[in-house]
Amino acid sequence: MKAAFLTGLREIKIADAPDPRIVHPHDVLLRVESVGICGSDIHYYSTGRIGPLVVDFPFIVGHECGGTIVEVGDDVDDLVPGERVAIEPAIHCGECEQCLRGRHHTCLNHKFLGCPGQLNGGLAEYLVMPAECCIPLPESMTADQAALIEPLAIAVYTQRMAAAQDGAQIAVLGCGPIGLSVLLAVRAAADCSAYCSEPIAARQAAALRCGAEWAGSPSDVDIVAEIRRLAPEGLDFVFECAGQQASLNQAAELLKPGGTLVIVGIPEVECVSFPIHTYRRKELTIRNVRRQNDCVIPAIKLLASGKINMDQLATHHFPLSETPAAFDTVANYRDGVIKAMIRVSGES
Ligand SMILES: [Zn+2]
Ligand SMILES: [Zn+2]
Repeated sequence: MKAAFLTGLREIKIADAPDPRIVHPHDVLLRVESVGICGSDIHYYSTGRIGPLVVDFPFIVGHECGGTIVEVGDDVDDLVPGERVAIEPAIHCGECEQCLRGRHHTCLNHKFLGCPGQLNGGLAEYLVMPAECCIPLPESMTADQAALIEPLAIAVYTQRMAAAQDGAQIAVLGCGPIGLSVLLAVRAAADCSAYCSEPIAARQAAALRCGAEWAGSPSDVDIVAEIRRLAPEGLDFVFECAGQQASLNQAAELLKPGGTLVIVGIPEVECVSFPIHTYRRKELTIRNVRRQNDCVIPAIKLLASGKINMDQLATHHFPLSETPAAFDTVANYRDGVIKAMIRVSGES
């Protein structure tokens, strides 16, 4: 089969890879339809690592995928060939202390699709996954939507962590695909006023289309002053989706006493700092989001309900053969890209 390999920093080659085969009776073989390029894929592409996870080249990234079942293992009785599924990229052990507490997403033995040292990713024509990682989709769902379930599940989980209520005042700092997904998921659950910070004009416009009251660029305006002018009492929630020190500092100023900072973004640095006296005096809560837990089916239901529009995030499409151009476009924020989708198989 063909696959897209990271072969060095900012270097991708399309090459033959061995056809994956079902090994375990609980596995299924899938034909990959569509793969979304994630910010974390771009970290591996641009810097070869995220924190201690370092890419050993050549390596296949990609974990936001949907596909069609081709073959099922002997012990799989709830999935059939031809069925279209969203793929949960995290494989958990089911036996460790975290799994037994229902925290599958922090499983001590987990393996994640397209994560260095764990599993090769989904930018390939075929993929083998445990059946429990394949969640059937409604007929109506497109290949793009199947792949967008993964970031949407993170956004749905983020809202579960925050539990923002009607009337809440929130900010989303960083309106890439995850920030916009969080904005959509929070607003689908709670009728709240959202203020957005984002340097790229196309993404500010997208934030407004996704229901933000206000969107501005931190390079043009004083984000804290502008948002405080619109929400003088301060905010209930700040969703940090940029992975930037500056937004952690802004969150301290934006939140009202008792407010909550929800950290979703992935910083490129090892350590960040907090203005501790502001956090202390305001008694702010900090929540970290680690991917998601049990939110794939809720994400599928939310998308199928038609309450939110994720299609507007899939701004660019490339065939597998043009994966290098897709990564170049996303890594350099070219052409107003929000999310680039790789169409691996099926009609485009
Ligand atoms: Zn992702
Ligand atoms: Zn476990």
